Formats: sequence, C-alpha cells, structure tokens
Amino acid sequence: MKIVINGISANLRFSSAHIIPTHDFCGCIHGHSYFVDVEIEGEQSGAFDFVIDFKDVKKSVRKICKEHDHKLLIPIFNSNIKFEFTGEDINFDFFEDKEYVEFNINGKEYRIPKIDTVLLPLKHSSAEELAKYFTELLIKDISPKENISSVAIGVNEGIGQGAFFKMNLI
Ligand SMILES: [Zn+2]
Repeated sequence: MKIVINGISANLRFSSAHIIPTHDFCGCIHGHSYFVDVEIEGEQSGAFDFVIDFKDVKKSVRKICKEHDHKLLIPIFNSNIKFEFTGEDINFDFFEDKEYVEFNINGKEYRIPKIDTVLLPLKHSSAEELAKYFTELLIKDISPKENISSVAIGVNEGIGQGAFFKMNLI
C-alpha cells in the first residue's frame, strides 16, 4: 500500500532563494516557490489500519518547509563557494559566532546576514539534493515503524519540474 501527499493540495510549500554556482543560468541568486510531495509505502497496521497517519507526516513536512522558507539556501560543502576560512575542512562550527555569512563564488563577493540564510550540509541546493536531504530529515522526525518499507520525497521547483528521492527502509 502507498500513501501519497500532494504538496500543492496539502500546502506543503516554501519559497526560497538559492544559487547553483558556475551554472550559466542558475549561477545568480534566484528563487523558487517550492512544494514538497510525499509518498510512503508499507503495510497497513495499528488500530486504524493506516500505513501512517497523514497528519503526522504533514506536520513534519510542514516543519521542514518552515525551516527553509524565505531564506537563502547555502550548501556549505560546495567546492565553488569559498568562505572566509583558514584551513581545516568547512563545518558548521565555523559559522557559529558569525552574524554574516561571507563567501566568494568565482570572484563575486557575497555578505548575507546569517539570519537570512539556511546553511545546508550539502554540496548543492538543487532539487535533487534537497529531495534526498528532506527525505532524511523526514525519516529522522517521524521514526517510521516496522510496517513502513519506503519513504520518498519530491521537491518541486515549480509546477512540472521536480526531483524525487526514495529511500528503502527494508
Ligand atoms: Zn534554481
């Protein structure tokens, strides 16, 4: 059995800005009105014979959307994004006490208030990478029971353009 949640109908949306460094068209800061679709497969179980309660899934995905809404998404492991940095591998500690996130992409300098950003533990802020990341966040948040066999998330950059990632749990 599979349950499907449509991000537009269920209002699982967020609007964010991002950059795809070195890409000829998407290399400038631009934004998308994202929406997030969810598909969860598994056996029906429990008192109500649900695969999983829609309400719990929507609540979790809504939280993920809210955390990324109206921000500039910055993938800190992107090799083309050069942060002011002294040596060791980049990590979140580097940004801990910073009020601004400063970086350089191919000679273009950026200085963004940290409060306006979401720092992502990713190489890219593409729909593909966001779909994988959100799937991991969702699984962590809902702790699927043994009846669940897979969790999939689609991150859409708009109608007709999105990436789907499915994680098999058994
Ligand atoms: Zn884009």
